[in-house]
Amino acid sequence: MMARGSRVAWSILERLGRFDGGSNPPYPIRTMKQQDAARIYATLLKRYPDAREPAGKICRGTPFEVLILTILSAQTTDKAVLKVKKPLFLRYPTPAKLAKANQEDVEMIIHSLGYYHAKAKNLIAASQALLDNFGGSVPETMDELLTIPGVGRKTANIVLYHAMGKNEGIAVDTHVRRLAQRIGFSDTDNVAVIERDLMRLFSQDTWGDLTDVLIAHGRATCDAKKPLCGECVISGECRGVRKNKD
Ligand code: SF4
Repeated sequence: MMARGSRVAWSILERLGRFDGGSNPPYPIRTMKQQDAARIYATLLKRYPDAREPAGKICRGTPFEVLILTILSAQTTDKAVLKVKKPLFLRYPTPAKLAKANQEDVEMIIHSLGYYHAKAKNLIAASQALLDNFGGSVPETMDELLTIPGVGRKTANIVLYHAMGKNEGIAVDTHVRRLAQRIGFSDTDNVAVIERDLMRLFSQDTWGDLTDVLIAHGRATCDAKKPLCGECVISGECRGVRKNKD
């Protein structure tokens, strides 16, 4: 339980506008209970019933396609990635074709995305790793996926859940990271620790969907700069609620 001094300090910081729920509080806060987290999740799920089956998303397709598109999605939007999906896979439909690709040719296709030089390099290296180490298939474990160039836990979690139906962890993207702190699921800005906190709070069968539900809420209501707390369905349970603001 948080000490009285800490609660007072937090309250003062809030009144001074120094803590908006999106930053790390300077001391430990109360730990959310699993039943409270489950209730918040249920409320959000009701508010965004289609979030678990996102249409036109990068996470649709074969494991190879989901892997490649998720690597491409770093620092850009799903919409931008989907624009290059067709030309990319028409020319390079398999790991074998993409592993042999000329990097500049790949760069021309994905040029509209940020970091296209590094991404093209990673796509080719990832495809070569699939050929060299996994018989040309996408591996089905976290440890194996993390050996592939360009793949971190976020990408691995997305591939495992959306391409293989496995809940091994929770993908923490920019929305999940922000909302976890604001709502009170986690007290840190470290994505690895946020993932661990979320895995402790939520039952495993919800892990994959939790990411999509939080992303839906982040896009529709809990914007990074202008959260719409006044119309938020979980404002009564969110520690980062902004009162008397839009
Ligand atoms: S009340 Fe809702 S919109 Fe406001 S910070 Fe919390 S989750 Fe975001």
